[in-house]
Amino acid sequence: MPPAGGSQESTITTAMTDVLTDAKTVAKTDAKTVAKTDAKTDVMTDAECRAVLNPPDTLANRVTTFIGVVGPFIGLLAAMYALWGWAFSPVYLVLLIVMYLASGLGITIGYHRLFTHRAFKTSRTVEFVLGVLGSMAVEGPLLRWVATHRCHHRHSDERDDPHSPNHFGGGVFGVISGWWHAHMGWIFIAKTIDLTPFVPDLRADKLLRTVSRLFPVWVLLGFLIPAVLGGVITLSWTGALLGFLWGGVVRVFIVHHATWSINSVCHLWGQRPFESRDESRNNFLCGVLAFGEGWHNNHHAFPSSARHGLRWWEFDMSYTVIRGMELVGIAWRVRRPTLARIAARRAR
Ligand SMILES: [Zn+2]
Ligand SMILES: [Zn+2]
Repeated sequence: MPPAGGSQESTITTAMTDVLTDAKTVAKTDAKTVAKTDAKTDVMTDAECRAVLNPPDTLANRVTTFIGVVGPFIGLLAAMYALWGWAFSPVYLVLLIVMYLASGLGITIGYHRLFTHRAFKTSRTVEFVLGVLGSMAVEGPLLRWVATHRCHHRHSDERDDPHSPNHFGGGVFGVISGWWHAHMGWIFIAKTIDLTPFVPDLRADKLLRTVSRLFPVWVLLGFLIPAVLGGVITLSWTGALLGFLWGGVVRVFIVHHATWSINSVCHLWGQRPFESRDESRNNFLCGVLAFGEGWHNNHHAFPSSARHGLRWWEFDMSYTVIRGMELVGIAWRVRRPTLARIAARRAR
């Protein structure tokens, strides 16, 4: 995701310098008072620090996250209902669903499971198509997305994680700040870690480099296709505009929040059936809306598995499609954990 604005690290450094300068001034002007203070008693212990930096999953966490994520979706459904029949109709509903499936699966199957984790192999043509469809989700060029996500796995919920919600303190304010940062705030903050070492394979691949470089072209295509279809089907300019609106703008809004919820909701709220060194969680709602990506604790336990929903009731649409591709011969060497490995990683 493109960084924007100033460096968080430099802001923090400046703030630290200000604090230290203030402290020196106080020390000079009020040396008598400072002399009475035992500096050692004013140091935060490891336990105190841990309590602030690693907040438990409180009820406030869950309620705040639930309202923040589900609320806008309910608002969107209400708008659809109110507009039905004059600005929203079956034509635009189909455009919205088809474009949502195409760009969403482009992210989950292409950007994530294929290019980031190499969970299966496929032909160069399918690689190209998945790269283009993933780009239409407007989540950044292929190389940057993959580098950022590999960095997330390497440093999950540590300081260098690009989008961990777990470093903003406890209480309602800390939870809201953490949720906002993990959901989309991190996109507007300059990276503090060099991402170039994370994508040696993609840097050596001319086809994928080209797909990544032409990112703006694929984004434009993602808006043009529903606009043209809307115009041709209804034979009107209004149809083209509404096709652009529902199949383009609204579709991107839903794909964005479904994807970002994996970073925010799935590191705050849900079940942890597997032992992992981070705060990843399985979340049913995200599992369905984000095509299987919401089984995120499973994913952190077995990152290179093409299958994220490991139990029969953990519906994983992306894996269903990959399995279908395997059956017709356009995907092979599909990676899945063995039953023995799954049993060995179960949380006790
Ligand atoms: Zn994660
Ligand atoms: Zn991943």
